[in-house]
Amino acid sequence: MTSFRPHLPVPLNDLSQFYPSVQEVQVLRLDLLHPVISGNKWFKLRFYLEDAKKRNAAELVTWGGPWSNHIVATAAACASEGIPCTGLIRGEEPLKWSATLQLAADYGMKLRFLPRADYDLEKLPADLDDESIYQVPAGGYGINGALGASGILDQMNSPFTHLLCAVGTGTMLAGLINRCFKQHHITGISALSGHPELEARVSNLLTTTDVNWHILREFSFGGYAKYSPQLIDFMNEFYRKTHIPSDFVYTGKLFYAMEALLAAGHFPDHARLLLIHSGGLQGNQSLEGRLVY
Ligand SMILES: *Cc1c(COP(=O)(O)O)cnc(C)c1O
Repeated sequence: MTSFRPHLPVPLNDLSQFYPSVQEVQVLRLDLLHPVISGNKWFKLRFYLEDAKKRNAAELVTWGGPWSNHIVATAAACASEGIPCTGLIRGEEPLKWSATLQLAADYGMKLRFLPRADYDLEKLPADLDDESIYQVPAGGYGINGALGASGILDQMNSPFTHLLCAVGTGTMLAGLINRCFKQHHITGISALSGHPELEARVSNLLTTTDVNWHILREFSFGGYAKYSPQLIDFMNEFYRKTHIPSDFVYTGKLFYAMEALLAAGHFPDHARLLLIHSGGLQGNQSLEGRLVY
């Protein structure tokens, strides 16, 4: 798996000068691992790919939307590992493919478009329903995904008290919790509103009950991939201030939440915050130039 391993150690940006109400604010920059296939997806896919190889899978198949970070990361990872792959894409085929789909296809992924009803059931098309086909659940959700995500903290030797990350399927959050201890407080910022089963889905992947964690839904800006001019303004301002770009689906909402929680006095003075920048910048292409970076 050498070719697939992202470059470590991951850079850590110190933002303490901007947020003096706590002892320290650091950002683990997984967005810098690769210009396109950045972030937590490398980590979440790692053990699925190993498993697929071990089983001599003829092909790997996974699910995602037309702007999915998971789809493009899977395409790139499979290309680098020499595993044929198919992406099952939610909805009818658009007249013009998104930049994400085009890039996935350029990496050699075959794309198939599924009607929403079939997609939502994660039902494999009959010709792919075969033992030789290795399935990776949407977003890499599962034990292997969480195990890989735990590796995000492998290179972190700087102490922290509070960990914040964005949440989609909850796989990364589960992996991070599994690598933490009693003294840590972990906050997941949900990119989705609603989704009442999210906590249970995280719990299903946990190997520890010692760690304090919770998920906040009030920073979703109305739901998955929803945004307002206020969020875009915040992301532009955050970039001007810190030189850290964010994406509007996950990490923009994460940094917005961090500032809101700091302003509300949510953290004690001695807190050392660690934020996971989980990447996802390629998805900003769907905004067509509304961001300054
Ligand atoms: C996929 C993704 C997430 C969500 O990860 P989950 O493990 O599904 O919760 C967060 N941030 C970014 C940038 C992502 O691409």
